[in-house]
Amino acid sequence: MNVRPFHVLLVEDSLTDATIIRESLDFGPRPVNVTVTRSLAEARATLRDFTPCLAIVDLFLPDGRGIDLLPNGQEEIDFPTIIMTGHGDVEAAIEAMKGGAIDYVTKSPEALVAMPRTVERVLREWDHIAERKKAEQALQAANRQLQNIIEFLPDATFVTDRENRVIAWNRAMEEMTGVPKEELLGRGNYDYAFAFYKTRRPLLIDLLDKPDPEIESTYDQFKREGRTLYAEGFVPNLHNGKGAYLWIKASPLLDEQGNRTGSVESIRDLTERKQAEEELLKANRELDAFVYTVSHDLRSPLTPIIGFADLLIDNAQDRLSANDVECLENISRSGKRMITLMEDLLALARVGQVEFPDDPVDSGAVVNEVVSSLAGQLVQAGVSVNLDSLPSLRIPKSLLVQVFDNLIGNAFRYGCKPGDVIEVGGERKGDKVRFFVRDHGPGIPDAERDRIFEVFYRGMTGKAKDGTGIGLATVRKIARLFGGQAWIDETPGGGSTFRVELVDAPSAPSGH
Ligand code: ADP
Repeated sequence: MNVRPFHVLLVEDSLTDATIIRESLDFGPRPVNVTVTRSLAEARATLRDFTPCLAIVDLFLPDGRGIDLLPNGQEEIDFPTIIMTGHGDVEAAIEAMKGGAIDYVTKSPEALVAMPRTVERVLREWDHIAERKKAEQALQAANRQLQNIIEFLPDATFVTDRENRVIAWNRAMEEMTGVPKEELLGRGNYDYAFAFYKTRRPLLIDLLDKPDPEIESTYDQFKREGRTLYAEGFVPNLHNGKGAYLWIKASPLLDEQGNRTGSVESIRDLTERKQAEEELLKANRELDAFVYTVSHDLRSPLTPIIGFADLLIDNAQDRLSANDVECLENISRSGKRMITLMEDLLALARVGQVEFPDDPVDSGAVVNEVVSSLAGQLVQAGVSVNLDSLPSLRIPKSLLVQVFDNLIGNAFRYGCKPGDVIEVGGERKGDKVRFFVRDHGPGIPDAERDRIFEVFYRGMTGKAKDGTGIGLATVRKIARLFGGQAWIDETPGGGSTFRVELVDAPSAPSGH
């Protein structure tokens, strides 16, 4: 086997010592090529031509100190060095180690003879150092890559390692906190004034480590989706002296075995949005109150107007012209229309706050009730209602009545001819309940699909019929109030399918 020669540079001015070392190396475990130099200058000249596998350097040389050959921590050394010191020169030894020597030996005949063992030890140490360096470089490259990945994410995002040191911190994070990444990278210091975040982060990290439902229930401020956690809340005192509403998302970084090696965390400042939402909510409540009062007060004078018009028609008919009677009938009809409008508006305004009933409401029973109240008209028109099984849910019954009253009423008025069938059904998926009311009538043109849910908007199909344009607005308002939505799908083969999704309340806590 052709073993590559192991080059040793020996820097030693004592010929005797040099000979002892060389001979002892000759008896060592590996074939060795020794180059002996006797001064610093000579050693430097030799190093310009070749790089040894190892250097053994005497501390005291005729033209200087052996440690001056070391790069002094400034640059990388590409070979391991052993420094030989005089007896008791501990300080020089320490200095040599600091300068980058791997080991030192105190010169004695025994130490010189034992040199091969020292060499083997130093080589092993040198290998370890190289491995550590390589691992560190790989880690740094990985961290740089993480930094690149998160750098331009819109959310303020940072990455930490297992020891909670920040290893990446993006631009949005710098903007949000005013803390540049250079100040944090490699540190675990979260004193950047996220009071809310700081107090919750330990829990968050705990939860990332232990996906345990029991622990989870004690930290109910967090929501979990897969292994990602979410939290949001108000922070009373942020760095700008004002409060803020923050949203936080944290996902674990996992290694191949599924162990957590760190975490990726994002923070969103929802303060402005939250404020806007609250203002909107307040404005809506005020508007509801206004609409309620106005429609209530405007309704009162209508009753006598209609009453007197009807009275005149009855009592003075023979003294009036046909035209006069028609005018009075018009007054009465318009008045009644106005009452309907007021009633619809009142219903819309009453859809106010979410109040969950204690017991689930049987929506099948609600639909039956609505259908019964329409029974006369349905029978007369030869229209039937087909009922699927319907889920129960916790939403005030009066609101559910309004939903089905409007949808079934519309299907009947706008979507049915004699012999037609209206289909009503619903299903539950988790906490979401989705109802539908389907007819096989003319359907809703694309352009109107959204608009017919607006207050007072009446569609093409409504032109020939009486109506206020408030019914579907009420349906959508109820759906939204319960965290859901109302929309239209086409019925295959023609017609419209109105869908209403509602989020059911969590079931009432037992024993109250
Ligand atoms: P209104 O019935 O008082 O007009 P709505 O808000 O209930 O008010 O309905 C708005 C419009 O949507 C109606 O004027 C009508 O044009 C249209 N529409 C509602 N339901 C249907 C339906 N099932 N088929 C066709 N058009 C419908």
